[in-house]
Amino acid sequence: ARAAGRGLWRLFQPEMEAGIRQRRQLETELRSALAAEQFEVFYQPLVEARTLALAGFEALVRWRHPGRGLVPPGEFIPLLEETGLIGPLGSWVLARACADAAGWPAHLRLAVNLSPVQVLNARLVQEVAQALAGAGLAPQRLELEITETVLLQDNEVTLGVLRRLHELGVRISMDDFGTGYSSLSYLRRFPFDKIKVDQSFVHTLPRDRGGIPIIRAVTGLGRALGMRVLAEGVETVEQMEILREEGCDELQGFLFGRPAPLCEAAEVIARDLAG
Ligand code: C2E
Ligand code: CA
Ligand code: CA
Ligand code: CA
Repeated sequence: ARAAGRGLWRLFQPEMEAGIRQRRQLETELRSALAAEQFEVFYQPLVEARTLALAGFEALVRWRHPGRGLVPPGEFIPLLEETGLIGPLGSWVLARACADAAGWPAHLRLAVNLSPVQVLNARLVQEVAQALAGAGLAPQRLELEITETVLLQDNEVTLGVLRRLHELGVRISMDDFGTGYSSLSYLRRFPFDKIKVDQSFVHTLPRDRGGIPIIRAVTGLGRALGMRVLAEGVETVEQMEILREEGCDELQGFLFGRPAPLCEAAEVIARDLAG
């Protein structure tokens, strides 16, 4: 997978003359990949911090490339966003994930990532409503994750779209919290249901104890504003213990499970139900 990543990385150097041609080629490949449905949705567990019970899954897209194997989203989402192809892929992911989640026990939630490009399009509301109705999934079980770049767009359309999604009953989470420039002001502009503290604050624990006051401040903020707080990137028991102590509501990370195909999510669910 690493070698495949390097191969694709070369295709992402638009400054290079040959790069432009390769980029076009990759774009063509992505178009046919969409048509051929070469994409897959993986699922990573989200757990309740206090009980460690399964709370749901985050949907993370993968490209099953015929020659290069499994390609991670960081290698192709940027190009899809530039070319507008993120629209069709985003719709596909949404519909696929809602259909998959409809087969899970009703207390489990589904988190889906939205690209800023998707949130700029008012048609998104209709699309989400259709995906939910088509799958028979209750809106309350769907959480849409956006990064603060979405609000950076400072666009009336964006705020309108988020409000209408909220009115549908869908939850909205702020992803990668703490990595942007002025996260706090965005928390005032829109009533998020959840804050996802970025992995960069978790990975340095417990080595860098300076991360602890920040996590504590965010959980305090979440409590004051009525937003749940999830910590991402939890890899060790020690990190888990600190995050529980600091009052995080939910945890996510390799410690609880890596992103995996639907059939593995089903096994995680079965194990959780068995206690
Ligand atoms: P994200 O939304 O912040 O997703 C979390 C990323 O962290 C995932 O990478 C996940 O595999 C990784 N991760 C989770 N737990 C751990 C951990 O304990 N340690 C470490 N080192 N990493 C962990 P992934 O799947 O490669 O996705 C990367 C990014 O691609 C996502 O970041 C998201 O921004 C984007 N993405 C993924 N799927 C979609 C999608 O369907 N639509 C859109 N628009 N973006 C997507
Ligand atoms: Ca996310
Ligand atoms: Ca994140
Ligand atoms: Ca991220």
